[in-house]
Amino acid sequence: MAFVTRFAPSPTGPLHLGHAYSALLAHDMARAEGGAFFLRFEDTDLERCKPEYEDAIADDLRWLGMCWDGPILRQSPNIAAYNARLDLLAARGLIYPCCCTRADIRAALAAPQEGVAHAVYPGTCRGRSMDSRRAEDALRLDLNAALAQLSLTALIFTETGPAHRGVHLVDPMAAQATIGDIVLSRKGEDIVAYFLASAFDDADQGITHVIRGEDLFDFVPIQVILQRLFDLPTPIYHHHRLIRDAHGKRLAKRDDARALSKFRAEGASPADIRRMVGL
Ligand code: GLU
Repeated sequence: MAFVTRFAPSPTGPLHLGHAYSALLAHDMARAEGGAFFLRFEDTDLERCKPEYEDAIADDLRWLGMCWDGPILRQSPNIAAYNARLDLLAARGLIYPCCCTRADIRAALAAPQEGVAHAVYPGTCRGRSMDSRRAEDALRLDLNAALAQLSLTALIFTETGPAHRGVHLVDPMAAQATIGDIVLSRKGEDIVAYFLASAFDDADQGITHVIRGEDLFDFVPIQVILQRLFDLPTPIYHHHRLIRDAHGKRLAKRDDARALSKFRAEGASPADIRRMVGL
């Protein structure tokens, strides 16, 4: 099939207008292309994800008039499979255990980092062997080591969204400055980070087009690096504009005021929601 996409919320709260826009856009694009649209719950954060949110999300999507193809994919039953892939990275010397707390990382960074989405890890634990791993350690990707095993000209992806449309080559220097040694599995729990689980699921589900909010654009390079490390295909990316509140602030799941359920309770129709998000 030429066009296969998905909506992949983390069920940590109710859907808001921003999610509705993302889901409707992906769904509409798939249907317009005669393609497939999957629903995936990215629920590896077992503490924050709740089955009741999954039910509410599915109910909101159905109410909006969407149907998805095939069964819903949940990530939590697949944690062992993700971990098996981490073992492959370990065998290639590309991950290391890390016991640094957020406070340790802040203290090790001389000055606040500007223009980066998250604190870039200063590398304190880099060089630790996997044998020294303790249960409470996180696992980090050794980005330099990973880049050294890849052909840099293959780190390429196509973006069709409005803000960054074009073909992009991942810049290793920029990746080191803005991404660094990211966490692939979280401390204490056997929880695989979103980057890794999502890269594998996109490949396993044959996703050809990833349609999602612009806030995730900066993470594409890391997903492309993971795809190349495992010889996975790179989908076409489409990062769409974000739906903001009246003050221009990006909507978050905790902003209950924008929850779709509120609009539903107030009598809005699916067509009203489409209008509100500009579709
Ligand atoms: N689970 C992610 C989120 O809720 C979406 C990731 C994606 O679409 O790639 O933000």
